[in-house]
Amino acid sequence: MELLVQEQDVPQFARMMRDDWVRSVQQEGTINTDLDAKLAAHDPDGEPPCPACGTAAPLVDDCCSDCGLYLG
Ligand SMILES: [Zn+2]
Repeated sequence: MELLVQEQDVPQFARMMRDDWVRSVQQEGTINTDLDAKLAAHDPDGEPPCPACGTAAPLVDDCCSDCGLYLG
C-alpha cells in the first residue's frame, strides 16, 4: 500500500495518525502486560531487554535468544 500526501498536508496528516494511535492505545491498553513488567524490572546495568518480548539475555547471532527478533 502506498499513501501519497501533499507536502502542505503532512503536519495535519501526522496529527491524524498520532491521534488515531493514541485513541487505539487508550481503548485497548497495552497488549502484553507481562512485557511491561519485564521492561520495568530490567536491570539498567545488565543486558538491554528485547523490545518485543522483554528478555534480557545475550544475543544469539544478533537476534533475541527468546523470540528471535533481529537486534544486531
Ligand atoms: Zn525477544
